[in-house]
Amino acid sequence: MIRKEYPFFYKRYAYDLSTNTLHDLKNEKDECKINEIDEEDIEMYSSLSEASLMLDHPVHKHCPCCMKED
Ligand SMILES: [Zn+2]
Repeated sequence: MIRKEYPFFYKRYAYDLSTNTLHDLKNEKDECKINEIDEEDIEMYSSLSEASLMLDHPVHKHCPCCMKED
């Protein structure tokens, strides 16, 4: 679910700094527990290309619930 308020601001991809996990809010599942992430630990990206450019964390993973890769 796309959220308008801080810290989401209508952006699609939420990066959880505490677990190094990227979530797709358009495909969010209950298992993502987005609402339980500390807002201080959230970075938002509009697109995957923006996320890949800006993610300087050497270890990051895609959430298996909302970002399944075939
Ligand atoms: Zn997720």
